[in-house]
Amino acid sequence: MKTKFQTPTGMHDILPIDYKYYEKVLETGKEVAEFYNFQRIETPILEMSELFEKGTGETTDIVQKQMYSLKTRGGDALTLRPEGTPPAVRLYLEHGMFNYPQPVKLWYYGPFFRYEKPQAGRYRQFWQMGLEVIGEKNSIIDAQTIQIYYNILKELKLNNLIVEVNCIGDQLCRPHYRKTLASYLRSKDSNLCADCKRRIKENPLRILDCKDEKCQAVKAHAPQMIDHLCEECKHHFKEVLEYLDEIGLPYRLNPYLVRGLDYYTRTVFEIFQEGKEGQAQTALGGGGRYDYLIKLLGGKETPAMGGSLGVDRVVQAMKEAQITMDNEKKVKVFLAQLGYLGKKKSLKLFEDLRRANIQVGESFDRDSLKSQLKIADKYGAQLTLFLGQKEALEGTVLIRNMETGRQETVKLENAVVEIKKRLKK
Ligand code: AMP
Repeated sequence: MKTKFQTPTGMHDILPIDYKYYEKVLETGKEVAEFYNFQRIETPILEMSELFEKGTGETTDIVQKQMYSLKTRGGDALTLRPEGTPPAVRLYLEHGMFNYPQPVKLWYYGPFFRYEKPQAGRYRQFWQMGLEVIGEKNSIIDAQTIQIYYNILKELKLNNLIVEVNCIGDQLCRPHYRKTLASYLRSKDSNLCADCKRRIKENPLRILDCKDEKCQAVKAHAPQMIDHLCEECKHHFKEVLEYLDEIGLPYRLNPYLVRGLDYYTRTVFEIFQEGKEGQAQTALGGGGRYDYLIKLLGGKETPAMGGSLGVDRVVQAMKEAQITMDNEKKVKVFLAQLGYLGKKKSLKLFEDLRRANIQVGESFDRDSLKSQLKIADKYGAQLTLFLGQKEALEGTVLIRNMETGRQETVKLENAVVEIKKRLKK
């Protein structure tokens, strides 16, 4: 039915049936992250716009086209966070975490906002679970970060996972490569899409990422970063790959993987499920090293590595794989009541059961015993409790074993103890 009010374009509700999946992703992410000694943080949903303009980068699609920005009544320019890394770095700097033992390992979960063209797996409000390791330059961290994401997805029982990795160089080698690439692209200028023509000057690496068919053909013959790495980057990347080999993680090199953000250096990665249509839209997560971002945002030069999982896409993949959630709380006891007096007493009994941590089902709006018993059956309750006029006046409750049909009357004040005695584990 078309109702008057609907979710804004590109945004979606999470219904109870899906929330179980979201919770599962959060619980699993938390468990895995905590095993690797990550600590949880929460940053505001709004940040100063400049944090992203500077951090995410002026030439990125996010900053140029996708930010939800606003002016507050006081005149502050704020933006709904489009990604989690600049806020995490801001938090690290603002709270002096550079004085903590390094590296500082942080994780977060929450909604993010990008004004994108809505399509399958691409929303304007979406959820991410992110990890950041700040203050460690060793390549082992690159490999372990990738592994953590892989482990979370594996724990969630997703199969056919494949990690794509690339090295996009550093301040030493990338500028040379940029020039080489730009001059190649200029020679093919007429074969590029309008966006990419503009990108030649601003950010030629992004062309490697372009999904336009014409640009894909141009990029197939483009010079590759991997052939232009400086010695240190080459060495770093070789180590990352050796670590990945060592842990037996399925990966492949993708020389065109550059990722959309400006701050990445050296290792970048994305995780996919093999054999899915339109892979570009289906990265379940991604990230990379960002050794210059902390300095760019006002700190000392500090190496770092991080990434994030797209929770909506992970949930979608779990549903497609027909992974079922059986974490539903099992109703063990159904509370049936009749008449005003019975209802009155049952409300108190309901609370006693809650304190005793016994999951109770009820149907306060039904007055017929028959319809309440039907619901108790549907719940699969082990016991049904009856509280009618008679029981309420006598201060008792009737306990019915749903399997055997046996009924016993017990004192209301002893109800919880008596129920516990009769409940199967
Ligand atoms: P990014 O750092 O932009 O690659 O985002 C990391 C992950 O978040 C992606 O691999 C996606 O799984 C997810 N993601 C990014 N943008 C969106 C979006 N607009 N809608 C849904 N998921 C997204």
